[in-house]
Amino acid sequence: MIWDCHVHAAGTESAKDLLAEMDERGIDRMCLFGPYRGDSVEAQRESTDFIAALQAEAPDRLFGLAWLEPALPGAADEVERAIADKGLRGIKMIPNHWYPTDDLLVPVYERVQQLGVPIQFHSGILYGMQDSSRFCQPVYFEALVHFPKVRFSLAHISWPWCDECIAVFGRFRANVRGRDDEAQMWIDTTRGTPPEWRLDALRKAVAFGCTNRMLFGSDAHPGNLAYAAEHIRLDIELLRDEIGLDEAALERYFWGNCAEFYGVPD
Ligand SMILES: [Zn+2]
Repeated sequence: MIWDCHVHAAGTESAKDLLAEMDERGIDRMCLFGPYRGDSVEAQRESTDFIAALQAEAPDRLFGLAWLEPALPGAADEVERAIADKGLRGIKMIPNHWYPTDDLLVPVYERVQQLGVPIQFHSGILYGMQDSSRFCQPVYFEALVHFPKVRFSLAHISWPWCDECIAVFGRFRANVRGRDDEAQMWIDTTRGTPPEWRLDALRKAVAFGCTNRMLFGSDAHPGNLAYAAEHIRLDIELLRDEIGLDEAALERYFWGNCAEFYGVPD
């Protein structure tokens, strides 16, 4: 079973085409982010509504996430609307000229914590949003330590700050007395890591005991899920043939860890 935790919708997709493409590429379930519409409250609502309508067509296979811009007014209320009213599964955010430590995030974290859904953050160098990369360094996400019931993932193993990402995982593991399977942080291994770095990053994450907290993701777009299929193949090569993960660990990587992250039956 394959669960791709990191797919971007453009806002033009049809569920019928998407499901057919998933079948063709061997993807059983995906987390699908609404398009970024951080310019206005209204546009962001439209993005959320679009992804909710798509999810409603196949709620078992499409886990919709609202892409939230927390600097917009009423962000915490939009979280509530997206999750409680629209039934979306989680929140996606990219630190766009705000730090995860900023006060404006507090009401958002509190609302997410009440609602019990995960947050998928971008982390690492950012090829967009002007000069926002500095806001996406993994250590700033340590702020989530104040919201211990919020489950969150950092994408791209935070490349190029992979070591820092893994160290931050260690910090959250320490918070639950060293039990990696109780830690609130997950590592979304979606690429970003170029091929020359990826084996090293994955090997270190496994060596540090993150295996049960690593999620497969592709950063693919509907219409180009061939890209996801190619990275499934490459990750199996790295994790099984180079690093030596067994079948059970691979199943967790491609499915079980995500099921746990989302709190749904395996
Ligand atoms: Zn992405």
